[in-house]
Amino acid sequence: MSNITRDMFDQYYFPLFTPPGFIPVRGQGSRLWDQEGREYLDLSGGIAVNSLGHCYPEVVETLREQGGKLWHVSNLMTNEPVISLAKRLVEATFADRAFFCNSGAEANEAAFKLARRYALDNYGEDKNEILAAVQSFHGRTLFTVSVGGQDHYSDGFGPKPTAIIHRPYNDIEAFREAISEKTCAVVLEPIQGEGGIIPGDPEFLREVRKLCDENHALLIFDEVQTGCGRTGDLFAYMGCGVTPDILTTAKGLGGGFPIGAVLATNEVARVFTPGVHGTTFGGNALACAVADKVMSIIEKPEFLQGVKERSGKFFARLQKIAEDTGCFSQIRGRGLLVGAVLADKYQGRSGELLKLCAAKRLLVLVAGKNVLRLAPALNITDEEMNAGLDLLEEAVREFTGRS
Ligand SMILES: *Cc1c(COP(=O)(O)O)cnc(C)c1O
Repeated sequence: MSNITRDMFDQYYFPLFTPPGFIPVRGQGSRLWDQEGREYLDLSGGIAVNSLGHCYPEVVETLREQGGKLWHVSNLMTNEPVISLAKRLVEATFADRAFFCNSGAEANEAAFKLARRYALDNYGEDKNEILAAVQSFHGRTLFTVSVGGQDHYSDGFGPKPTAIIHRPYNDIEAFREAISEKTCAVVLEPIQGEGGIIPGDPEFLREVRKLCDENHALLIFDEVQTGCGRTGDLFAYMGCGVTPDILTTAKGLGGGFPIGAVLATNEVARVFTPGVHGTTFGGNALACAVADKVMSIIEKPEFLQGVKERSGKFFARLQKIAEDTGCFSQIRGRGLLVGAVLADKYQGRSGELLKLCAAKRLLVLVAGKNVLRLAPALNITDEEMNAGLDLLEEAVREFTGRS
């Protein structure tokens, strides 16, 4: 495909994205190579998706094997991988049942419909309000983008779904004042991802759980970004000691293959009876076989322990860079979901720093204008991590002009 050039993206693709000038054509572990054979260090993990890095051999093998056997039969039939993956996730979590779809937004769309239907069946039609957090992100369908707490994503598409209210994250008094018998669900990210890598205060999450119980509202945790080992726990809720009624996940689940999941208790899942919700591709044998393999690796205690150890090294080095350069006021997040918050005098310039990194062939992310976000592969090696953070330090020194 060497006749493909970067210019053609601007010609043929919807003008939604502004990718850099190179086109990656190959990946291995936490490294990528472009059309010219130039090498890049990847600390972006495809936005917390490539949980085992690029082309992890065991997963490639599963993809090949399943690809030669059975891809798709629709939900008019079932298949072995979908049952195996559902069983694995149920056995590893609070949930009794699973449902699969193709993305985070679809998982949340299903979760919000599930919460509305559960409330309708059990409490009548007045109980339909969804309480969400300011700055939250839940996907780009019209419903999920409206539940998300960032107007710049949801404005400009005509009338929005109603009965959705937003209150500041980690502000328990605001949530206490807003919740009522009309609330069918409270939805929270245990760590706000797109909003700036803002960890939920454990006390806040515990109190919200109580408020939900008192008001017969379901607690939905959106773990699309925080799930599947990203925080060093299999799911972030396990690390904060608060159990939701519904959990959604996606990004890291397939290690790069598109798949999303909704997990729920029997009590809640039972209202999704035949015909109430559906999907053509969700639960596809190929996607589920890949995700089942990915999760069989990630769920091992020694793997998760490895994430925690890498996290310790990662944070320590970033903290050192912050202290040496004054570039960052705070390093926050959990596991390998990390936000480096720009110090006051560099506010609004995260995109500039990202470009400086890219020029050094280091791939990073931002979460808003003030936070540099890193979400490397969960199995990144010490060598890859050090090489990446050396490049980051160079970029930061150039950025702050203190080399
Ligand atoms: C990325 C993300 C989504 C949306 O997932 P898509 O697969 O892009 O639809 C939803 N919620 C959270 C917390 C996310 O980080």
